[in-house]
Amino acid sequence: MEKKELLDLIIIGGGPAGLTAGMYASRSKMNVLMLEKMMPGGNVSITAEVENYPGTPNITGPDLVDLMEKQAREFGLEIKSEEVLNIEPGAGTEGHHVKTDTNEYYAKSVLVVSGSSPRKIGCVGESEHLGRGVSYCATCDGAFFREKEIAVVGGGDSAVEEALYLTKFASKVTIIHRRDKLRATKVIQDKAFKHPKIDFIWDTVVEGIESEKMIVDNLKLKNVKTNEITNLKVQGIFVFVGYIPATSFVPGIVDKDQAGFIKTDMEMRTNLPGIFAAGDIIVKKQRQIITACGDAATAIKSIEFYNEWFYEDEQYI
Ligand code: NAP
Repeated sequence: MEKKELLDLIIIGGGPAGLTAGMYASRSKMNVLMLEKMMPGGNVSITAEVENYPGTPNITGPDLVDLMEKQAREFGLEIKSEEVLNIEPGAGTEGHHVKTDTNEYYAKSVLVVSGSSPRKIGCVGESEHLGRGVSYCATCDGAFFREKEIAVVGGGDSAVEEALYLTKFASKVTIIHRRDKLRATKVIQDKAFKHPKIDFIWDTVVEGIESEKMIVDNLKLKNVKTNEITNLKVQGIFVFVGYIPATSFVPGIVDKDQAGFIKTDMEMRTNLPGIFAAGDIIVKKQRQIITACGDAATAIKSIEFYNEWFYEDEQYI
């Protein structure tokens, strides 16, 4: 049987962590392949504006990740558009076996940087109205809501930043939050509180998304303190209530926390030799573009060290 090529590294995911890892690994002349099921960029490619990445003030998310991809490719990074289905661990032997929808690969190390996907509210009418007034992406869909009244659900950085962006199009943006305090960074909160187009509804959750003609026209809201039910007439609702880690292909024996985020040490090592993780997918407090990129740089340095001792020391961890 033909022996499969043993790569140094497979990077799974093409967001900022993946692109940074790809750039570092290619620059270190590793034999590396990135697998990304869609376009590189991850959630940043659907982020309207990034104002806290050093050296690039007020850049759009798509422009920032385009620059990252270009830089990584200039060092020779190969990116394939394939969906990873599973990883069979094989450290110390033939390497880890990565199966995709169209191919299979072997590598000494695997770096999981697959990020996360938007969490849904889970209320009545949410999935039925997807693309009919329900959206999880302001840059993709904001322009459809010119001069319309819309709602944004959530109280974190994503909700408040995207609400600010949506004021470019909508005539009014109502932020609906389940508590009476925002989680978002103070500077963003201040901008939202001062914005003439933004209103807030506190201590409230969305119980139902409704329409007469299958295009959202009403939200059924519940005040969690008083249980009072009210209606809010809007023509669109943008949901930013956090993200769920994308780990369906990660072996069950890789340690994760209760929410499914991968546990690593400070060197970005998981509990399985040769399997590393970085960026939004790992257990950590700060999920920022810059922390994802920092994790990725750390991971590549650990992977270089691990690969060098790959055959010599199977006990490594
Ligand atoms: P997040 O920080 O986890 O915030 C999620 C928000 O949704 C919270 O306010 C939460 O309420 C609310 N929520 C959660 N489940 C809900 C539900 N079922 N119904 C209603 N509300 C619900 O998520 P994020 O804003 O997407 O941010 C994710 C990470 O990326 C964070 O670490 C954030 O700092 C980072 N981020 C950074 C930037 C930036 O630096 N420019 C931009 C975007 C995101 P509670 O507050 O009550 O829990």
